[in-house]
Amino acid sequence: MTSELGFVGTNDLVGITRGRAMPLARLEDSLDTGCGWVPANLGIGPFGHIVADGEVFGSTGDLRLIPDPATRTQFPPGPDGRPVTVMLGDTVNIDLTPWAACPRTFLRTALADLAAETGLHIYGAFEHEFMLVTDDAPPAPFSLDALLGGEPWGSGLVAALTKAGIEPENWLPEYGANQWEVVIPPALDVEIADRAVLLRDLVRHYSKLHGKQASFSPLLDPDGSGNGVHLHVSLRTGDGVPATFDASRPGRMSEVAGQFAAGILRHCRAITALTASSVVSYQRLTPHRWSAGHAFLGEQNREAMLRICPLVEVDGKNRAAQYNLEYRAGDATSNPWLYLGCIVRAGLEGIRNKLPAPRVLDVEVDSLTPEQREEAGVRTLPASLTEALDALLADEVVAGWFDTEMLDTFLAIKREEIARAKGRSEADICADYRDVY
Ligand code: GLU
Ligand code: MG
Repeated sequence: MTSELGFVGTNDLVGITRGRAMPLARLEDSLDTGCGWVPANLGIGPFGHIVADGEVFGSTGDLRLIPDPATRTQFPPGPDGRPVTVMLGDTVNIDLTPWAACPRTFLRTALADLAAETGLHIYGAFEHEFMLVTDDAPPAPFSLDALLGGEPWGSGLVAALTKAGIEPENWLPEYGANQWEVVIPPALDVEIADRAVLLRDLVRHYSKLHGKQASFSPLLDPDGSGNGVHLHVSLRTGDGVPATFDASRPGRMSEVAGQFAAGILRHCRAITALTASSVVSYQRLTPHRWSAGHAFLGEQNREAMLRICPLVEVDGKNRAAQYNLEYRAGDATSNPWLYLGCIVRAGLEGIRNKLPAPRVLDVEVDSLTPEQREEAGVRTLPASLTEALDALLADEVVAGWFDTEMLDTFLAIKREEIARAKGRSEADICADYRDVY
C-alpha cells in the first residue's frame, strides 16, 4: 500500500483547477462516486476568495466530483516526493445527475448536440504560449541560443508532457521575452480541452520543481508580446473522415465548415467573454500584436480572429486531413471546456442557420479603408472585459446556452475583477494576473 495521492478536479469559471485528493487506491475504488464538492466553490475568483457569496450559491448544497479515468495523468514528483495522479471530471448533484453549472458538462452537451444534429465531431488542439518570469535578459527570439538556454528544463518538460500522453509536436522559444510555445497534436472532442487543462498545470508544476515560474497570463508586460491560447479546429465525421476541406470552394473550406466559421464570426463579440475572460485579456487583444486585431476570417493572416492555417502543399500529403481553422482570440484566463464549448455552440448555430461562408480576407486589414472593411465584413472585437460582458448579455443566443446560475456567477466574478482593476496602471494589472496564471 503506497501513500500516493489521487486528485480529482474540475477547472472552474476562471480557468483554475480545483478539487480534492485521497489515497490513489481509494480513488481507484471510488471512480463511480468520486468525492464531495461544494456549489459555492464555483464562485471563487482568480484572486482566491468567493466573490458571488450569497448572491448565487450560498452556504448550502452539496455536489460530487466524478473522475473520468480517461484523463488519468501522473504529475512528476519533487526530489523526495511521490508523483500525484490527477483525474479531471464532471461535477454532478449528489444523486449523480448532471449539475447544470458544470463547465465540462457544458462542453460535453455542446459536442453531443453537434454530433446528434450533424453527425460531426471536433478534431483539434489548443496551442499554448507562456513566459518564464525572470529578470534575465531575453535571448534572441526563436534562436538556438534561446532553446539551449532553456536546457535541461525544456527537454525535461517535453519528456514530462510525453509521459502524460501529451507529446509535443513542437517546442519552441517564441518571439516574446523569455516566451515559449508548446504545440500538441490534435485530439477528438472533450479530450482537446482536457489536455489544455492538464498541460497548463503540468507546465507550471514542472517548472516550479525546477525553480522557474511559468506564466500563461495573456500579457506580462504592457509593452511586450502576449501569450495566446489559440484553438485549432476541424470537423470530422463519426468515421473519422475530414469534413472541413473542399478544394472547389473559396478558401478551400467545405460548405459545412463555412457555416461553422460564419457562426463563430456572428457570435464572436459575445463568446470573447468566455475565450478571453479577464481584464488583462484585452490588453493583449489589440492590433499589431498578432493576437487577433480584428474579427474576420483570414488566410494565413495572424491579425485575424479566425485563420485558415497553411497546409504542407506537396504530393502525397493529405490536404483534407491537415486543413483546420485557428481561433486566435483566446487565452489561459479562460476555462478550456467553456472556450471550446462556445466555439462548438457558435459553429452549430451557423450550421443550423445555413449561414453563408464568411469572406476570406488575404490582405492586411490596415491597408483597407473603413468602407472596404465594412464591405469585407471585418468587425472589431470587444476592447475591454466590460464590453465583452455587455456583448455576451446582448446576444440572447449565446447567453441562452448557459445555466442562469452559472452565468450569474461568472458575471459576478468578472465584475469584481473589473472593479479591482479600476484606476490601476496596465503594469499593475499585468502583475496581478501574472502570478495567478
Ligand atoms: N503571441 C501571439 C498572441 O498573443 C501569437 C503569435 C503567433 O502567431 O504565434 O496570440
Ligand atoms: Mg505562437
